[in-house]
Amino acid sequence: MEQTFHEIASSLVEIGRSFYARGWVLGTSGNFSAVLTREPLRLAITPSGADKAKLSAEQIMVVDREAKQIEDCASKPSAEALLHINVVLQRGAGAVLHTHSVWSTVLSNVHAAAGGIRIEGFEMLKGLEGVGTHEHREWLPIVENSQDMRTLAEHVSKILLLYPDAHGFLVRQHGLYTWGEDLGKAKRHVEILEFLLEALGRLQSITPERGSINDPKLEKRS
Ligand SMILES: [Zn+2]
Repeated sequence: MEQTFHEIASSLVEIGRSFYARGWVLGTSGNFSAVLTREPLRLAITPSGADKAKLSAEQIMVVDREAKQIEDCASKPSAEALLHINVVLQRGAGAVLHTHSVWSTVLSNVHAAAGGIRIEGFEMLKGLEGVGTHEHREWLPIVENSQDMRTLAEHVSKILLLYPDAHGFLVRQHGLYTWGEDLGKAKRHVEILEFLLEALGRLQSITPERGSINDPKLEKRS
């Protein structure tokens, strides 16, 4: 059953408060969207510069496939709306969530040279859609950050084509993008990936010699 705009807007508000409380979208960072209709594409999305702790359903906007807002209003849609649209079109996602957590920021820099982070051996991997075992190998690609949204959207598009099995990607020194068939599944993916990134980051901090995710020694043990 299709959700109404009001139901989706309420869910986006709830997610904003929950993620803010976890420290994943501080200082107006992060943005969230969900598909209202696919033909023509209409996306409910958080506005630019919104405090996620104080988000209200009235602030949620609607954009088309060019990231243009449908109705005139005082605020602007998130600057990263084009990235959401790429994920929706290329992955068939029903919802896209983007966080700016400490661990995604730190690890996306530490592993930038490798082009991504391999995550394996963790029970929490089973929270990713279609994953049934901790032995799953998740590759979380990293794209370079840019303030030019067209450039960033092109990079993201390439990454999505290159890694069709990835459940998310990192923007370097910026944050995490993940998605799902609906908002509930996308929220679960944020919780799972943020948990895994924090677990890896802490592991590296405590035991730097063992904590490298791309370390072949770690591969042998798992
Ligand atoms: Zn961002």
